[in-house]
Amino acid sequence: MTAPGRHFLQIPGPTNVPDRVLRAMDMPTIDHRGPAFADVGKRALDGMRSIFKTDGAVVIYPGSGTGAWEAALVNTLSPGDLVLMYETGHFASLWKKMADRLGLRSEFLAGDWRSGVDTDVIEERLRSDKNHEIKAICVVHNETSTGCVSAIADVRKTLDTTGHPALLMVDTISSLASIDYRHDEWGVDVTISGSQKGLMLPPGLSFNAISEKALAASKTSGMQKSYWAWDEMAGPNAAGYFPYTPATNMLYGLVEAIAMLHDEGLDNVFARHARHGEAARKAVAAWGLETVCSKPSDYSGSLTAVFVPEGHSADGFRKTTLDAFNMSLGNGLSKLADRVFRIGHLGDFNDLMLMGTLSGVEMGLELSGIPYRRGGAQAALDSLAGCQQARSGEAAA
Ligand SMILES: *Cc1c(COP(=O)(O)O)cnc(C)c1O
Repeated sequence: MTAPGRHFLQIPGPTNVPDRVLRAMDMPTIDHRGPAFADVGKRALDGMRSIFKTDGAVVIYPGSGTGAWEAALVNTLSPGDLVLMYETGHFASLWKKMADRLGLRSEFLAGDWRSGVDTDVIEERLRSDKNHEIKAICVVHNETSTGCVSAIADVRKTLDTTGHPALLMVDTISSLASIDYRHDEWGVDVTISGSQKGLMLPPGLSFNAISEKALAASKTSGMQKSYWAWDEMAGPNAAGYFPYTPATNMLYGLVEAIAMLHDEGLDNVFARHARHGEAARKAVAAWGLETVCSKPSDYSGSLTAVFVPEGHSADGFRKTTLDAFNMSLGNGLSKLADRVFRIGHLGDFNDLMLMGTLSGVEMGLELSGIPYRRGGAQAALDSLAGCQQARSGEAAA
Protein backbone atom coordinates (compact mmCIF):
# COMPACT_ATOMS: atom_id res chain seq x y z
CA MET A 1 0.00 0.00 0.00
CA THR A 2 1.30 3.44 -0.88
CA ALA A 3 1.34 5.75 2.10
CA PRO A 4 0.92 9.46 1.37
CA GLY A 5 3.41 12.01 2.68
CA ARG A 6 6.94 11.36 3.77
CA HIS A 7 7.90 8.23 5.62
CA PHE A 8 9.22 9.04 9.10
CA LEU A 9 12.49 7.11 9.26
CA GLN A 10 13.14 7.52 12.98
CA ILE A 11 15.46 4.57 13.49
CA PRO A 12 18.93 5.45 14.77
CA GLY A 13 20.47 4.80 11.39
CA PRO A 14 20.13 4.76 8.50
CA THR A 15 18.82 8.29 8.87
CA ASN A 16 16.91 10.70 6.65
CA VAL A 17 18.99 11.78 3.66
CA PRO A 18 18.54 15.49 2.92
CA ASP A 19 17.37 16.41 -0.60
CA ARG A 20 20.53 18.48 -1.00
CA VAL A 21 22.64 15.33 -0.54
CA LEU A 22 20.41 13.26 -2.84
CA ARG A 23 20.73 15.92 -5.54
CA ALA A 24 24.50 16.04 -5.14
CA MET A 25 24.61 12.29 -5.71
CA ASP A 26 22.44 12.49 -8.80
CA MET A 27 25.45 12.75 -11.12
CA PRO A 28 26.93 10.66 -13.88
CA THR A 29 29.41 8.15 -12.49
CA ILE A 30 32.80 9.29 -13.70
CA ASP A 31 36.10 7.55 -14.35
CA HIS A 32 37.58 7.09 -10.90
CA ARG A 33 41.07 7.13 -12.42
CA GLY A 34 40.40 10.17 -14.61
CA PRO A 35 41.42 13.77 -13.91
CA ALA A 36 37.99 14.96 -12.71
CA PHE A 37 37.85 12.42 -9.90
CA ALA A 38 40.85 13.67 -7.91
CA ASP A 39 39.02 16.79 -6.78
CA VAL A 40 36.11 14.77 -5.35
CA GLY A 41 38.49 12.33 -3.69
CA LYS A 42 40.57 15.05 -2.07
CA ARG A 43 37.55 17.01 -0.88
CA ALA A 44 36.03 13.89 0.65
CA LEU A 45 39.24 12.94 2.48
CA ASP A 46 40.01 16.50 3.64
CA GLY A 47 36.41 17.03 4.62
CA MET A 48 36.38 13.91 6.77
CA ARG A 49 39.51 15.15 8.55
CA SER A 50 37.55 18.22 9.56
CA ILE A 51 34.66 16.10 10.85
CA PHE A 52 36.92 13.73 12.84
CA LYS A 53 38.93 16.78 13.95
CA THR A 54 42.24 15.31 12.91
CA ASP A 55 45.24 16.40 10.89
CA GLY A 56 46.20 12.75 10.42
CA ALA A 57 45.27 10.03 7.98
CA VAL A 58 41.68 9.18 7.11
CA VAL A 59 40.69 6.11 5.11
CA ILE A 60 37.36 5.78 3.29
CA TYR A 61 36.03 2.32 2.42
CA PRO A 62 33.12 1.29 0.26
CA GLY A 63 31.69 -0.77 3.10
CA SER A 64 29.48 -0.74 6.16
CA GLY A 65 30.60 0.33 9.61
CA THR A 66 31.31 -3.29 10.48
CA GLY A 67 34.04 -3.30 7.83
CA ALA A 68 35.69 -0.29 9.43
CA TRP A 69 35.66 -2.14 12.79
CA GLU A 70 37.52 -4.98 11.11
CA ALA A 71 39.94 -2.57 9.43
CA ALA A 72 40.84 -1.03 12.80
CA LEU A 73 41.64 -4.42 14.32
CA VAL A 74 43.43 -6.11 11.42
CA ASN A 75 45.64 -3.16 10.57
CA THR A 76 47.07 -2.65 14.05
CA LEU A 77 47.10 -5.99 15.90
CA SER A 78 48.59 -9.49 15.65
CA PRO A 79 46.96 -12.89 16.16
CA GLY A 80 46.50 -13.68 19.85
CA ASP A 81 46.83 -10.05 20.98
CA LEU A 82 44.67 -9.17 23.95
CA VAL A 83 42.06 -6.46 23.38
CA LEU A 84 40.09 -4.93 26.20
CA MET A 85 36.49 -4.17 25.32
CA TYR A 86 33.67 -2.71 27.35
CA GLU A 87 30.17 -4.16 27.36
CA THR A 88 28.14 -1.03 26.82
CA GLY A 89 25.50 -2.95 24.82
CA HIS A 90 24.72 -4.79 21.60
CA PHE A 91 27.25 -3.05 19.35
CA ALA A 92 30.13 -3.45 21.78
CA SER A 93 29.17 -7.15 21.99
CA LEU A 94 29.27 -7.52 18.20
CA TRP A 95 32.67 -5.85 18.01
CA LYS A 96 33.97 -8.23 20.67
CA LYS A 97 32.61 -11.22 18.75
CA MET A 98 34.42 -9.96 15.68
CA ALA A 99 37.72 -9.71 17.60
CA ASP A 100 37.31 -13.34 18.68
CA ARG A 101 36.50 -14.49 15.15
CA LEU A 102 39.60 -12.74 13.87
CA GLY A 103 41.83 -14.72 16.23
CA LEU A 104 42.42 -12.01 18.79
CA ARG A 105 41.90 -12.61 22.50
CA SER A 106 39.23 -10.35 23.85
CA GLU A 107 38.35 -9.47 27.39
CA PHE A 108 34.99 -7.91 28.19
CA LEU A 109 34.53 -5.52 31.07
CA ALA A 110 30.95 -6.20 32.13
CA GLY A 111 28.40 -3.42 31.78
CA ASP A 112 24.70 -3.11 32.60
CA TRP A 113 23.55 -1.82 29.17
CA ARG A 114 22.23 1.31 30.91
CA SER A 115 25.30 3.54 31.02
CA GLY A 116 28.55 4.33 29.23
CA VAL A 117 31.94 3.09 30.38
CA ASP A 118 33.07 3.40 34.00
CA THR A 119 36.65 4.66 33.80
CA ASP A 120 37.40 3.45 37.35
CA VAL A 121 36.84 -0.12 36.14
CA ILE A 122 39.09 0.49 33.13
CA GLU A 123 41.76 2.07 35.33
CA GLU A 124 41.79 -0.89 37.71
CA ARG A 125 42.19 -3.36 34.84
CA LEU A 126 44.95 -1.34 33.18
CA ARG A 127 46.84 -1.04 36.48
CA SER A 128 46.69 -4.81 36.96
CA ASP A 129 48.15 -5.34 33.48
CA LYS A 130 51.74 -4.93 34.62
CA ASN A 131 53.26 -6.58 31.53
CA HIS A 132 51.18 -4.53 29.13
CA GLU A 133 49.55 -7.56 27.58
CA ILE A 134 46.55 -5.47 26.55
CA LYS A 135 47.35 -4.10 23.11
CA ALA A 136 44.18 -2.14 22.49
CA ILE A 137 41.14 -0.85 24.30
CA CYS A 138 37.96 -0.61 22.22
CA VAL A 139 35.06 1.62 23.21
CA VAL A 140 31.77 2.44 21.50
CA HIS A 141 31.28 6.22 21.84
CA ASN A 142 27.50 6.20 21.41
CA GLU A 143 26.01 2.76 22.11
CA THR A 144 23.14 2.73 19.65
CA SER A 145 21.33 -0.14 21.38
CA THR A 146 20.94 1.81 24.63
CA GLY A 147 21.36 5.52 23.91
CA CYS A 148 24.32 5.87 26.28
CA VAL A 149 27.46 7.89 25.54
CA SER A 150 30.91 7.09 26.90
CA ALA A 151 33.36 9.83 27.89
CA ILE A 152 36.22 9.20 25.49
CA ALA A 153 38.40 12.02 26.82
CA ASP A 154 38.23 10.34 30.25
CA VAL A 155 39.27 6.98 28.79
CA ARG A 156 42.28 8.75 27.25
CA LYS A 157 43.11 10.29 30.64
CA THR A 158 42.91 6.86 32.24
CA LEU A 159 45.40 5.47 29.71
CA ASP A 160 47.69 8.44 30.37
CA THR A 161 47.54 8.36 34.17
CA THR A 162 48.19 4.62 34.23
CA GLY A 163 50.97 5.04 31.65
CA HIS A 164 49.45 2.18 29.65
CA PRO A 165 50.58 2.00 26.01
CA ALA A 166 47.47 0.25 24.60
CA LEU A 167 45.96 1.71 21.44
CA LEU A 168 42.62 3.45 21.94
CA MET A 169 39.98 2.54 19.33
CA VAL A 170 36.60 4.24 19.28
CA ASP A 171 33.43 3.40 17.35
CA THR A 172 31.70 6.68 16.44
CA ILE A 173 29.29 5.16 13.92
CA SER A 174 26.23 6.72 15.56
CA SER A 175 27.90 9.74 17.16
CA LEU A 176 30.10 11.35 14.51
CA ALA A 177 28.56 14.62 13.30
CA SER A 178 25.85 14.38 15.99
CA ILE A 179 27.77 14.40 19.28
CA ASP A 180 31.02 16.27 19.99
CA TYR A 181 34.02 14.20 18.96
CA ARG A 182 37.74 15.07 18.70
CA HIS A 183 40.07 12.42 17.32
CA ASP A 184 43.36 14.33 17.79
CA GLU A 185 42.58 16.22 20.99
CA TRP A 186 41.33 13.09 22.73
CA GLY A 187 44.34 11.07 21.61
CA VAL A 188 42.32 8.37 19.87
CA ASP A 189 44.38 5.98 17.76
CA VAL A 190 41.72 4.60 15.45
CA THR A 191 38.26 6.12 15.07
CA ILE A 192 35.65 4.08 13.23
CA SER A 193 32.60 5.54 11.53
CA GLY A 194 29.96 4.99 8.87
CA SER A 195 28.00 7.09 6.39
CA GLN A 196 24.38 6.34 7.24
CA LYS A 197 23.88 7.96 10.63
CA GLY A 198 25.06 11.44 11.64
CA LEU A 199 26.62 11.99 8.24
CA MET A 200 23.15 11.91 6.64
CA LEU A 201 24.13 9.66 3.73
CA PRO A 202 22.74 6.36 2.56
CA PRO A 203 24.53 3.26 3.87
CA GLY A 204 27.67 2.28 1.97
CA LEU A 205 30.74 4.18 3.18
CA SER A 206 32.82 3.62 6.27
CA PHE A 207 35.86 5.31 7.72
CA ASN A 208 38.97 5.03 9.84
CA ALA A 209 40.79 8.03 11.27
CA ILE A 210 44.30 6.96 12.17
CA SER A 211 46.88 8.33 14.61
CA GLU A 212 50.65 8.25 14.04
CA LYS A 213 50.88 5.61 16.75
CA ALA A 214 48.31 3.42 14.99
CA LEU A 215 50.12 3.89 11.68
CA ALA A 216 53.35 2.78 13.36
CA ALA A 217 51.55 -0.26 14.81
CA SER A 218 50.31 -1.13 11.32
CA LYS A 219 53.90 -1.58 10.15
CA THR A 220 54.39 -4.55 12.47
CA SER A 221 50.84 -5.90 12.67
CA GLY A 222 50.67 -9.63 11.93
CA MET A 223 46.98 -9.98 11.06
CA GLN A 224 46.04 -11.07 7.53
CA LYS A 225 44.47 -8.27 5.53
CA SER A 226 44.06 -7.21 1.97
CA TYR A 227 40.86 -5.28 1.18
CA TRP A 228 41.12 -3.38 4.48
CA ALA A 229 44.89 -2.76 4.36
CA TRP A 230 45.71 0.87 5.11
CA ASP A 231 49.08 0.80 3.35
CA GLU A 232 47.45 0.30 -0.05
CA MET A 233 45.38 3.46 0.46
CA ALA A 234 48.00 6.04 1.37
CA GLY A 235 49.71 6.37 -2.01
CA PRO A 236 46.64 6.83 -4.22
CA ASN A 237 44.81 8.87 -1.52
CA ALA A 238 47.58 11.48 -1.49
CA ALA A 239 46.60 12.35 -5.07
CA GLY A 240 42.83 12.02 -4.42
CA TYR A 241 42.53 8.48 -5.79
CA PHE A 242 41.75 5.04 -4.38
CA PRO A 243 43.44 1.66 -4.92
CA TYR A 244 40.14 0.08 -6.01
CA THR A 245 36.84 1.45 -7.27
CA PRO A 246 35.46 3.89 -4.71
CA ALA A 247 31.73 4.51 -4.24
CA THR A 248 31.93 7.54 -6.52
CA ASN A 249 28.39 8.86 -6.13
CA MET A 250 28.47 8.36 -2.38
CA LEU A 251 31.56 10.57 -2.33
CA TYR A 252 29.65 13.35 -4.12
CA GLY A 253 27.04 13.04 -1.39
CA LEU A 254 29.69 13.00 1.33
CA VAL A 255 31.27 16.23 0.11
CA GLU A 256 27.82 17.86 0.14
CA ALA A 257 26.92 16.50 3.59
CA ILE A 258 30.18 17.83 5.01
CA ALA A 259 29.46 21.24 3.46
CA MET A 260 26.02 21.21 5.10
CA LEU A 261 27.51 20.36 8.49
CA HIS A 262 30.01 23.22 8.23
CA ASP A 263 27.34 25.63 6.95
CA GLU A 264 25.39 24.98 10.14
CA GLY A 265 28.55 24.80 12.25
CA LEU A 266 29.50 21.59 14.04
CA ASP A 267 28.85 23.07 17.47
CA ASN A 268 25.35 24.09 16.37
CA VAL A 269 24.80 20.58 15.01
CA PHE A 270 25.81 19.08 18.37
CA ALA A 271 23.59 21.56 20.26
CA ARG A 272 20.64 20.73 18.01
CA HIS A 273 20.99 17.02 18.73
CA ALA A 274 21.40 17.64 22.45
CA ARG A 275 18.22 19.76 22.40
CA HIS A 276 16.29 17.02 20.61
CA GLY A 277 17.57 14.39 23.04
CA GLU A 278 16.48 16.54 25.96
CA ALA A 279 13.01 17.15 24.50
CA ALA A 280 12.58 13.43 23.73
CA ARG A 281 13.51 12.51 27.31
CA LYS A 282 11.04 15.11 28.63
CA ALA A 283 8.36 13.35 26.58
CA VAL A 284 9.36 9.91 27.87
CA ALA A 285 9.26 11.12 31.48
CA ALA A 286 5.86 12.74 30.98
CA TRP A 287 4.50 9.50 29.50
CA GLY A 288 5.64 7.79 32.70
CA LEU A 289 8.00 5.54 30.75
CA GLU A 290 11.65 4.85 31.41
CA THR A 291 14.69 5.44 29.21
CA VAL A 292 17.23 2.65 28.89
CA CYS A 293 20.05 5.06 29.73
CA SER A 294 19.82 5.53 33.49
CA LYS A 295 22.79 7.87 33.92
CA PRO A 296 22.07 11.53 33.07
CA SER A 297 25.72 12.31 32.29
CA ASP A 298 25.62 9.62 29.58
CA TYR A 299 22.39 10.62 27.82
CA SER A 300 22.68 10.55 24.03
CA GLY A 301 21.82 13.30 21.58
CA SER A 302 21.53 10.71 18.78
CA LEU A 303 18.76 8.51 20.04
CA THR A 304 16.51 7.74 22.97
CA ALA A 305 15.80 4.10 23.84
CA VAL A 306 12.63 3.54 25.83
CA PHE A 307 11.36 0.55 27.83
CA VAL A 308 7.75 -0.47 27.32
CA PRO A 309 6.07 -1.57 30.55
CA GLU A 310 6.43 -5.23 31.56
CA GLY A 311 3.98 -7.49 29.73
CA HIS A 312 3.77 -5.29 26.62
CA SER A 313 5.44 -5.80 23.26
CA ALA A 314 7.73 -3.09 21.94
CA ASP A 315 7.70 -4.76 18.51
CA GLY A 316 3.91 -4.83 18.47
CA PHE A 317 3.96 -1.12 19.30
CA ARG A 318 6.45 -0.45 16.50
CA LYS A 319 4.26 -2.32 14.05
CA THR A 320 1.35 -0.12 15.08
CA THR A 321 3.29 3.12 14.49
CA LEU A 322 4.43 1.83 11.11
CA ASP A 323 0.97 0.73 9.98
CA ALA A 324 -0.93 3.70 11.35
CA PHE A 325 1.51 6.57 10.91
CA ASN A 326 4.08 5.43 8.35
CA MET A 327 6.83 5.81 10.93
CA SER A 328 9.73 3.40 11.54
CA LEU A 329 11.11 3.30 15.08
CA GLY A 330 14.21 1.32 16.07
CA ASN A 331 13.81 -2.10 17.65
CA GLY A 332 15.30 -3.47 20.85
CA LEU A 333 18.49 -5.40 20.09
CA SER A 334 19.52 -8.81 21.49
CA LYS A 335 18.71 -8.85 25.18
CA LEU A 336 16.52 -5.78 24.82
CA ALA A 337 14.47 -7.35 22.00
CA ASP A 338 10.74 -6.59 22.24
CA ARG A 339 11.31 -4.69 25.52
CA VAL A 340 12.57 -1.47 24.01
CA PHE A 341 11.86 0.89 21.15
CA ARG A 342 14.39 3.44 20.00
CA ILE A 343 13.67 6.93 18.74
CA GLY A 344 16.40 8.08 16.37
CA HIS A 345 16.88 11.85 16.40
CA LEU A 346 20.20 12.03 14.61
CA GLY A 347 21.19 13.34 11.23
CA ASP A 348 19.02 15.69 9.19
CA PHE A 349 16.38 16.53 11.73
CA ASN A 350 14.58 19.58 13.12
CA ASP A 351 12.15 20.54 15.86
CA LEU A 352 9.01 19.86 13.85
CA MET A 353 10.28 16.47 12.67
CA LEU A 354 10.90 15.59 16.32
CA MET A 355 7.38 16.75 17.22
CA GLY A 356 5.92 14.66 14.41
CA THR A 357 7.87 11.68 15.69
CA LEU A 358 6.85 12.13 19.31
CA SER A 359 3.22 12.70 18.32
CA GLY A 360 3.36 9.42 16.42
CA VAL A 361 4.82 7.68 19.47
CA GLU A 362 2.12 9.12 21.75
CA MET A 363 -0.70 8.13 19.39
CA GLY A 364 0.92 4.72 18.97
CA LEU A 365 0.98 4.18 22.74
CA GLU A 366 -2.73 4.97 22.83
CA LEU A 367 -3.54 2.63 19.92
CA SER A 368 -1.42 -0.20 21.33
CA GLY A 369 -3.07 -0.08 24.73
CA ILE A 370 0.27 0.52 26.44
CA PRO A 371 -0.29 2.21 29.80
CA TYR A 372 1.06 5.77 29.64
CA ARG A 373 0.17 9.26 30.77
CA ARG A 374 -0.83 11.85 28.19
CA GLY A 375 1.25 14.95 27.72
CA GLY A 376 4.61 13.69 26.51
CA ALA A 377 4.38 15.51 23.20
CA GLN A 378 3.31 18.65 25.07
CA ALA A 379 6.30 18.36 27.41
CA ALA A 380 8.65 18.09 24.42
CA LEU A 381 6.95 21.04 22.77
CA ASP A 382 7.46 23.14 25.91
CA SER A 383 11.09 22.08 26.04
CA LEU A 384 11.73 23.00 22.39
CA ALA A 385 9.81 26.29 22.65
CA GLY A 386 11.86 27.19 25.75
CA CYS A 387 15.07 26.54 23.84
CA GLN A 388 13.91 28.66 20.90
CA GLN A 389 13.00 31.52 23.25
CA ALA A 390 16.38 31.31 24.95
CA ARG A 391 18.09 31.37 21.56
CA SER A 392 16.16 34.32 20.19
CA GLY A 393 16.87 36.10 23.52
CA GLU A 394 20.59 35.48 22.97
CA ALA A 395 20.35 36.69 19.40
CA ALA A 396 18.61 39.91 20.50
CA ALA A 397 21.06 40.60 23.34
C1 LIG B 1 25.13 1.03 13.16
C2 LIG B 1 26.25 0.71 14.09
C3 LIG B 1 27.21 -0.27 13.80
C4 LIG B 1 27.11 -1.16 12.59
O1 LIG B 1 27.33 -0.46 11.43
P1 LIG B 1 26.97 -1.15 10.02
O2 LIG B 1 27.11 -0.01 9.06
O3 LIG B 1 25.58 -1.68 10.15
O4 LIG B 1 27.96 -2.22 9.77
C5 LIG B 1 28.25 -0.43 14.67
N1 LIG B 1 28.37 0.30 15.77
C6 LIG B 1 27.47 1.24 16.11
C7 LIG B 1 27.65 2.03 17.35
C8 LIG B 1 26.37 1.47 15.27
O5 LIG B 1 25.47 2.39 15.61
